[in-house]
Amino acid sequence: MGVSGPIEKLMKLFAKFPGVGDKTARRFALFLLQQPKCFTEDLTSTISLMRDLTFSCSICGNLTTENPCPICSDPFRDRKTLCVIENVEDMLSLEQACIFSGLYFILGGKVSPLDGEDIDPERFSRLRKYSEEGEFQELIIATNPSIEGDLTFYAVLDALKPVGTRITRLAFGLPLGGSIGYADRVTLHASLESRVEVRIPEKK
Ligand SMILES: [Zn+2]
Repeated sequence: MGVSGPIEKLMKLFAKFPGVGDKTARRFALFLLQQPKCFTEDLTSTISLMRDLTFSCSICGNLTTENPCPICSDPFRDRKTLCVIENVEDMLSLEQACIFSGLYFILGGKVSPLDGEDIDPERFSRLRKYSEEGEFQELIIATNPSIEGDLTFYAVLDALKPVGTRITRLAFGLPLGGSIGYADRVTLHASLESRVEVRIPEKK
């Protein structure tokens, strides 16, 4: 590697980050060495604080420093719609897009037999309890468009069936600006399955 000691260790640690290869890990480590000491002190203390103060919201499972989390305790959110989602990262994407104002329930995993991954049955009983006790008129199951997402969807559906509230699922299909010619089989199949009825405008 050409370097040793803490700098080599730091590069190895950075290389474990998702989406970070050896070259980027090296750039990160060298960048830190060039920063004033207060920068690295701020970074290390923030990481420790994040580890010490962050926990899961007792209602939705979001990562938070206060319980309930800011979303669950926000009086301006639509309390009639609940979005069941796989993880915090997916939830943050929806929040960043500012397209959903309801509440969330984070599953904290997915059903993936090949990876030996499954959802804790306790999460399902919590979800059922929350759906029954809340005043929800719609439960949106927002799992990912993948085989694991499909398996997760059916597992959630099974858990929510007894609740009796209207259940919807995200539509999947061709991305905007995409092309049928280049779409893969799974996307094409999903877009066919999610087709909607076309309403022909009446002639005046
Ligand atoms: Zn919450």
